[in-house]
Amino acid sequence: MPSERAAGALLPESPVKNLAGVGPKKLALLEAAGIRTVADLLYAYPRTYEDRTRILTLGEMQAGQPAAFVAQVLSAGGKARYIPGRKKVPYTVLVGDGTGTAQIVFFNATWLGNLFLPGRRFLFFGSPEPRFGHMQFVHPDFERLPDEAGEEDAKAAGILPVYPLKAGLAQREMRRWHKDALSAAPHVTEYLPDEILGARNLPTVQAALTAIHYPDSREALKAARARFIYEELFLLAVGLLQVRARRTDAAVSAIKFPRKIKAEAFEKTLPFTPTAAQQRVLREVYADMEAPRPMNRLVQGDVGSGKTAVAMGALFKAVGSGYQGALMAPTEILARQHHASLRAVFPQMSIALLTASATAAQRREILASLAAGEVDILIGTHALLQPDVAFARLGVVITDEQHRFGVSQRINLKQKGKSPDVLVMTATPIPRTLAFILYGDLDMSVIDEMPPGRKPVMTKALTSARRDDVYEFVARQLAEGRQAYIVAPRIEEDEAADASGLRSAEGLYAEMQGTLSGYEVALLHGGMKREEKERVMEEFRDGKIRALVSTVVIEVGIDVKNATVMVIENAERFGLAQLHQLRGRVGRGSAESYCFLLTDSKSEEAIERARTMTQTENGFEIAEKDLALRGPGEFFGVRQHGIPNLALADLSKHAKLLGKVKADAEQLLKADPELLAPRNEALRERIDMLFADVRDIGI
Ligand code: ADP
Ligand code: MG
Repeated sequence: MPSERAAGALLPESPVKNLAGVGPKKLALLEAAGIRTVADLLYAYPRTYEDRTRILTLGEMQAGQPAAFVAQVLSAGGKARYIPGRKKVPYTVLVGDGTGTAQIVFFNATWLGNLFLPGRRFLFFGSPEPRFGHMQFVHPDFERLPDEAGEEDAKAAGILPVYPLKAGLAQREMRRWHKDALSAAPHVTEYLPDEILGARNLPTVQAALTAIHYPDSREALKAARARFIYEELFLLAVGLLQVRARRTDAAVSAIKFPRKIKAEAFEKTLPFTPTAAQQRVLREVYADMEAPRPMNRLVQGDVGSGKTAVAMGALFKAVGSGYQGALMAPTEILARQHHASLRAVFPQMSIALLTASATAAQRREILASLAAGEVDILIGTHALLQPDVAFARLGVVITDEQHRFGVSQRINLKQKGKSPDVLVMTATPIPRTLAFILYGDLDMSVIDEMPPGRKPVMTKALTSARRDDVYEFVARQLAEGRQAYIVAPRIEEDEAADASGLRSAEGLYAEMQGTLSGYEVALLHGGMKREEKERVMEEFRDGKIRALVSTVVIEVGIDVKNATVMVIENAERFGLAQLHQLRGRVGRGSAESYCFLLTDSKSEEAIERARTMTQTENGFEIAEKDLALRGPGEFFGVRQHGIPNLALADLSKHAKLLGKVKADAEQLLKADPELLAPRNEALRERIDMLFADVRDIGI
């Protein structure tokens, strides 16, 4: 045992209650924040830092610029006390340093007691605001110094961590605990291989942990952060690559679909010639199905690129080989649409539809024939996930619009068979780097080509000054026999929203009775009853309804070729991905189509979004732009269950680094796929822990 590991010394695995000042109350608060051990505390990084390396004089301080200064108390404004009934009771301290004076203000500061006595010296850190001829600091950080300047002053200087605080925890406590915890830093295990630290010029974990909490210099801090950013991405990359590799090896029991059912045979059943991209992806899918491991493939394709045909191809092969198939869609409307198109293409098959609107008797009948193996293909919504939905020989499972489902739902459906092949489809294009993180466990195919004859959708961003022109144009399109979508950001009228100029679907619907009088106009929104929504959609598809006023419920998957105009009101309220999806509802037939984005927003981001929409129709370009504008939050809204957190790494900023990290991870796993070498033991343990969830659900 090394001598530092003496009894009583803090170790990474020590519980935080061993730290001085952590009683039962504080312990509960720390644990609620996920901090149980000293190591957890070490890995809970500061939110930001106070740079006290340079101490300014009051004369040098600039309004709005946080900095450190040392000053003496000149007078304190009365007692720090609490007056019942008054919310904010100020307590004011006047301080000076010979170059100027400043007012320090605390509210409801009973806890300050008699700390600020005239003559005492303090180091403050804060951002001054000019107030009534004075410089004012509200709730600055402070630390008492000896009354005479001396050596002690230097100790208070430096770069200080600022921790994110949960209610009930104070910054000074967190600082003290972190500082104490640092004595355990030398014992923290290094996960990163030496050669990577060397090649990427990164500090060791022990050095980096110390430097990220109490850096000696800005450079040391930068190096420490770089190391942890690398570490986060590396753990993620190694874990995901392993999950994928294990899936490839392990599946002994997977179905090996016979080769004799070929893609060409399926393609002949289609009413159109598949695009080269569809053909390529279809062959990737068939190769997966014929392989002895289970398929786990994501098909990404822009709205209208024809993903359904690929799904049909997989079902065709499964059914032709004597298996059943399942196709799950996020909305009833979409499930019905798939049901109709599949029945048209496969008239000889038994294709059932199961949604929440099936009656008990219908449901019983469907489930019975499904279990008896009489149903070839079951199409439906979340209703497919219910426990009593049981297949006789489930061979392939397809999830459409995967981003609308959670990973656990995908897994749930898959578990209805014995290692069935899994295909998931999404119309939300994901930049490659992010796709690796989000779907690193899946193989990926991209349909990067549109069916022929599709014309670009003429897209215009206009202010409300042109609104009347837009609707006049809509009326002319309707007169030519076309149909239109009109989308609003909200359902109901509401005074506050009206005042801010926000349109509602209900308000627009009323307005359109006049503007588009003579044409059948209907309303569609998420608050309506299911049967009502279905009736409206059916009538719109049949051309009876000519203009559909709606909220974003129409975003997903609807295919009405005769619809040629999309008007989006308050376009600033929609994200780029949504705008792109909405526009994808038109331009599906051979007629010229139009998309109008109405917005009066002056927000730079909204303007940039509108500009992007008018400049490109390429979903991947739009996704990259979205990522740049909004960061990865949007994409991580659909984060997979079980993927470790990123505290410092930011995928939009570190996309390039991720490429290098992935290459390093691949190289490491090539030499030691299961990380069995003794030198990789710590890394293996860490990854097994981080990815425990993913392994348990057996992706
Ligand atoms: P998405 O990828 O958005 O799900 P769909 O599969 O719904 O797209 O296809 C959109 C429309 O394009 C459908 O009407 C479909 O029949 C049609 N389509 C798909 N592929 C082709 C093709 N190769 N040639 C012509 N039309 C096609
Ligand atoms: Mg689709």
